[in-house]
Amino acid sequence: MLNGAQASERGRATGKRWKGGVFSPTDGTADPASAAPAVARAILKLGGTVHQSCAARGIETEGGRLSGVVTEHGTIRTKTAVLAGGAWASSFCRQLGIRFPQAAIRSSILAVSPGSIGLPDALHTAAVSVTRRADGGYTVAISGRGRVDPTPQQLRFSPQFLPMFVKRWRSLAPGGLEGFHSGHETLARWRLDAPTPMERMRILDPAVDKATIRLTHSRAVDLLPPLKNISIAAAWAGYIDSTPDGVPGIGEIAAVPGFILAAGFSGHGFGIGPGAGHLIADIVTGNEPIVDPRPYHPDRFRKSAWGKVADF
Ligand SMILES: Cc1cc2nc3c(=O)[nH]c(=O)nc-3n(C[C@H](O)[C@H](O)[C@H](O)COP(=O)(O)OP(=O)(O)OC[C@H]3O[C@@H](n4cnc5c(N)ncnc54)[C@H](O)[C@@H]3O)c2cc1C
Repeated sequence: MLNGAQASERGRATGKRWKGGVFSPTDGTADPASAAPAVARAILKLGGTVHQSCAARGIETEGGRLSGVVTEHGTIRTKTAVLAGGAWASSFCRQLGIRFPQAAIRSSILAVSPGSIGLPDALHTAAVSVTRRADGGYTVAISGRGRVDPTPQQLRFSPQFLPMFVKRWRSLAPGGLEGFHSGHETLARWRLDAPTPMERMRILDPAVDKATIRLTHSRAVDLLPPLKNISIAAAWAGYIDSTPDGVPGIGEIAAVPGFILAAGFSGHGFGIGPGAGHLIADIVTGNEPIVDPRPYHPDRFRKSAWGKVADF
């Protein structure tokens, strides 16, 4: 914990006086574009295999237990499978008769070019967050801000998301038909022997919300005046796969033994990925779990999320 003097010293690039703050020297920053391939290489090194452009369409069961995963390139025989499908997880679960309330929130962020001097590696405030990139530029975002693109799935689960929307109404605004066209929140049933909506879209790359980008940049310049003369290098959007309480759903689904859900990371999945991955591996192998798995179990989605929505 930093007192006012310490926070103002740590945040001197802002030129402002701060009442206090938190400094977390053991935190790190990483770029997903480098980190994800590094994880894939580590899997190969440890004897695993990685199958790209190979969508899972569904599962097979024997005696009620999972016995295989049907992909577009054939069936993989296995007694255990993890669904880590991000924003596609709910519609996949629906094929199996599993109700997993999920809402994809379209979030838009930007990166500024290298060139600003004297800024901290990372600075998070309620108004805006900046994180240094490998090229010396910064990623800039407003935490929790997003557009809600109405979809059939959103309408279906909207009563369960009321506590989230009530808590976060200042950060959320109605979106457009982006989500509807992407197909990840379809209520349709699909076949195992024909291309699924996921195969038709493959990579979710929704349109950037330009108003959010303008607001994010102006807040960043207000917070860190050295950014004033630095240009925006890129802006992009993605779907935050949220659960009603903002906590991921991780655990084996009792109705389908062997089927483990690990999705709904609600905007924190990159940071908590290593710990979550450890927990998921413990569940698969039956090892002593690294943390108490009960607060993450998807069974809790049967109950209301009033009073339980995580802070963002
Ligand atoms: C703009 C933005 C900024 C973010 N910033 C941060 C941040 O600063 N810190 C942080 O911790 N998190 C952040 N997040 C959230 C983070 O990106 C997610 O929580 C994380 O990526 C979730 O990981 P995942 O593996 O569960 O899902 P994903 O990363 O979505 O991966 C799921 C994968 O499964 C694939 N898939 C889906 N269905 C199928 C299928 N049927 N067959 C085969 N493959 C399938 C998808 O194509 C995808 O590749 C941000 C998200 C966005 C959109």
